[in-house]
Amino acid sequence: MSYDDSNIFAKILRGEIPCHRVYEDADTLAFMDVMPQSPGHLLVIPKTPSRNILDADPATLSKVIPIVQKLANAAKEAFDADGITVTQFNEPAAGQTVYHLHFHIIPRYEGASLKPHTGQMEDHGVLAANAKKVVDALGA
Ligand code: AMP
Repeated sequence: MSYDDSNIFAKILRGEIPCHRVYEDADTLAFMDVMPQSPGHLLVIPKTPSRNILDADPATLSKVIPIVQKLANAAKEAFDADGITVTQFNEPAAGQTVYHLHFHIIPRYEGASLKPHTGQMEDHGVLAANAKKVVDALGA
């Protein structure tokens, strides 16, 4: 399957729809997931288009993974998490629903299970407050 630039993350990258941004550089954007599986669930995406990890240029992966690590540490600190789950889905059979490569960063707590994937939409005030926590942790 080829990349289709009508996907929602391509629209976010073009500024056509808003996001709760927490990090941006020349190659990467990170923002809050609107249907968080745990408070602080965020997404890291490369700006270079690829459908998922299967068709991504290794040069793109080499730029995005250090930012995944940076945001994982920031989210762990911002949400005082016991751990961080990083997930990344490829094709519908694997659970992918948006076809622009992205990494999920999900704060985890001992004994707490996750809410469903693409479950309930979070309140935008909560997402904005959580984005600020990540930004503050990155700045610390
Ligand atoms: P995946 O199944 O890995 O493709 O996950 C796509 C993720 O994008 C899901 O966790 C959705 O909650 C999330 N999502 C969908 N639309 C948006 C949006 N406009 N802004 C932020 N996150 C979104």
